[in-house]
Amino acid sequence: MKRRAEDSPAGRENSCEKSGLETRFIFITGGVSSSLGKGIAAASIGAIMKAARQRVFFQKLDPYLNVDSGTMNPFQHGEVFVTDDGAETDLDIGHYERFVNESLTRMSSITAGQVFRTVLDNERRGEYLGGTVQYIPHVTDTIKERMHRAAKESKADIVIVEVGGTVGDIEGAVFLEAIRQLRSELGPNRTCHVHMGFVPHMEASDELKTKPMQHSVIKVRESGLQPDMILARADRAIPMELLDKISLFCGVRRDAVIPAPTLHSIYDVPLYLEQEHHIAEVMGRYLGLTLAPDMSEWEEGRRLHEEAQEHLIPIALVGKYLHVKDAYLSVYEAIRSAAVHHNHKADIMLIDSEELESAGSPLWEDLKRCAGIVVPGGFGSRGVEGKMAAARFARTQGVPYLGLCLGAQLMVIDFARDVLKDGTLTSQEFDEKKILDPSKYVVHFLPGQHEGKEKGGTLRLGAYTCAVQAGTKAFEAYGRSEISERHRHRYEFNNDFRVRLEKHGLVFSGIWPETGLAEIVEVEGHPFMVGTQFHPEFKSRPHHPHPMFAKFAEAALACHAGGL
Ligand code: GLN
Repeated sequence: MKRRAEDSPAGRENSCEKSGLETRFIFITGGVSSSLGKGIAAASIGAIMKAARQRVFFQKLDPYLNVDSGTMNPFQHGEVFVTDDGAETDLDIGHYERFVNESLTRMSSITAGQVFRTVLDNERRGEYLGGTVQYIPHVTDTIKERMHRAAKESKADIVIVEVGGTVGDIEGAVFLEAIRQLRSELGPNRTCHVHMGFVPHMEASDELKTKPMQHSVIKVRESGLQPDMILARADRAIPMELLDKISLFCGVRRDAVIPAPTLHSIYDVPLYLEQEHHIAEVMGRYLGLTLAPDMSEWEEGRRLHEEAQEHLIPIALVGKYLHVKDAYLSVYEAIRSAAVHHNHKADIMLIDSEELESAGSPLWEDLKRCAGIVVPGGFGSRGVEGKMAAARFARTQGVPYLGLCLGAQLMVIDFARDVLKDGTLTSQEFDEKKILDPSKYVVHFLPGQHEGKEKGGTLRLGAYTCAVQAGTKAFEAYGRSEISERHRHRYEFNNDFRVRLEKHGLVFSGIWPETGLAEIVEVEGHPFMVGTQFHPEFKSRPHHPHPMFAKFAEAALACHAGGL
C-alpha cells in the first residue's frame, strides 16, 4: 500500500505544525447521556458560522474500533451516510451537510479504527523503529494530524470537531487528550470547547437536577479540558437559577450556559441558538472573531415549514429497519423537504415490508391511503417480497413510486417477473443457496464484485456521473443530462435483460456512460414510477430539496388531488 506522507510518524513535528491558515476549531463533547442531539447542535453551530460568512468544515471523531460505519447494520448505528468521495460515515455527517448545504469528504469521519490502523501499519513498516509505540504521542499525534489535515484540505476558517460518545467512555479518552494537546498548542483565540449535557427531570419532586451535568464537567476536567460553553439539554424550560448554578459549579461564564430544549423542528435549532442566545457573539469571544450571522435563509425556511404544516400529504416508506428511528434518516429528510417545497407537510407512514407479504395485513389499508410510495435501500432477502408487492401495487394502480437502490432493483425484478411471465426471476443477492441459473438474475454482481471479497468498503461507493436521457421523467426532474449521484451497493441491473424489458415499457433513463450500466429506470406511461440505483437522498438539503424527490412529491400531490 502506498504510504501517504501525512501518515508518517517521522512527521511528528509535521503532524503538529499549524496549517498556516489560522483555522479555528470548535470542539463539541457530550456528557451524562448519549442521544442528546450533539450532532444537531454541531450542525446548527456550523450553520450559524456559515451565516456569519465563515468557511466551515466538520469532523466527527468516532471512538469505536470499526474502520468505518459501513460494516454496522442500521440496528446498531442508524443510517450509513455516504460522501461524494465514497466514505461510509456516521449519520451526523448527513446532518452537517444538510445544515450547511455543502458536501463533505472522508476527512469528516475519523474513527478509532482508522487511527489505530494507521499507527499499527506505521509500526509494521518500521516507522517507529527502536521506539515503544504508545497512546501518547503516537495515537494522539495521528488524531491531531487528522484535524490539521481537515483544516488544510478544506481551507476552512472554522473546523467543527464533534467527539462521538460520552465523556468517561474508555475509548473516547485518547481523543479528548488529543484535543487537550491541540488546544494548548494553538493557544488563545483559536478554539472554543462546547460541552453538551443533560439536565434530567425528577417526576417525584418535579425538579430539574443539575448534578449529573456538574459531574460530567468534572469528568471533562479530568481530561485536562475546561469547557467554554455549555449546552444544557432538558425536556422542559430550565429556570434561571439553575442556569446560574451550572455556570458557577461548572466554571463557565453565565452567558455561555445555554439551555437547549427540544424544539418543534431540528431546523429551528440554529435560529433558536442565535436569536435567543446570541451564540455567535459568545463563541466569537473565544475564537477571537467578531461574528454577525445573517439568519434570513433560516427564517425563510421556518416560514415555509410553518406554512406547510396545514396541508398533509401521506407518503408510505416501505422498509424493514423501522424500529430504529434513524435508519432511513436521509430518506425521511428528503421526503420532508420535497413536500415543504410544494407547501405540504409529509405525513410519512412507516410500513413494515415483511407484513406486506401477507395479503390480509391491515398495513395494506394504510398503504392504499398513501399518495406516494418510497421503497428505500436495504441489504439481504428479508422483506423483499413485501417491497415488491408494494412496487406492484404502485405500478398497477398508478400510484407514484420512488425506488432507491434496493427499491429500484425490486421494482425492476417485479416488472420483469410480470412482463416476462417468470416468477423465479430475482437478484443474485437473494439466491443465497445458489440454486438458480445465473440467467434468472435480473440484478447481479457488478464487475469486480464477488462473494469472496472483503466486506468493508468494497461496495460501489460515492459519486458517479450519470447521463440522463432526454424525454424521460428523470430528465424532467433534473432538467439536464449530466448529473452526479452517490452510490452504495454491490449489485447492478443485468443488461442481458435490457432489450426484453424495454420492449415492455421499462425505460432506462439514466446510464453510467463508462460502463453502460443502468442508473435510473422508469415505467413508461405511469404517472411517476422511477427507481435510482444511486441514493439521491444523500444530496437533498432542507432548503434545496433534491429534484428527484421534488418531482416525486409533485406527482404524489397530483394523484392525491385526483382522489387516489
Ligand atoms: N443490497 C443491494 C446491493 O447491494 C442494494 C443496496 C442498497 O440499497 N444500498 O446492491
